[in-house]
Amino acid sequence: MLLNFNWNVLMSYRHKKLKEEDVAVCECKYGVNDPETACGERCLNELTNTECTLGYCQSGENCRNQRFQKCEYAKINLFRTKGRGWGILDDDNIKVILLKQL
Ligand SMILES: [Zn+2]
Ligand SMILES: [Zn+2]
Repeated sequence: MLLNFNWNVLMSYRHKKLKEEDVAVCECKYGVNDPETACGERCLNELTNTECTLGYCQSGENCRNQRFQKCEYAKINLFRTKGRGWGILDDDNIKVILLKQL
């Protein structure tokens, strides 16, 4: 299942210095019936040693070019709130951020 909330909010929270123009977006388009089309060896970003950015990459969660970011996100607990979209529990379980659903 793909989560359809606003990853940009999360990105700006985790990486406060990230600017939209700094994001490298490749041309891969993931097709549900063909997992090989997701980012991998032939990805433009992979070829230039650039990691895809979650929320911008069209392969979404199937992108295989987000290793670093994925480990970082593993520390975040995502949970669904009642009627208010998704929330994130920070590493220290103190901050909760509500994300507006797209
Ligand atoms: Zn790609
Ligand atoms: Zn990608």
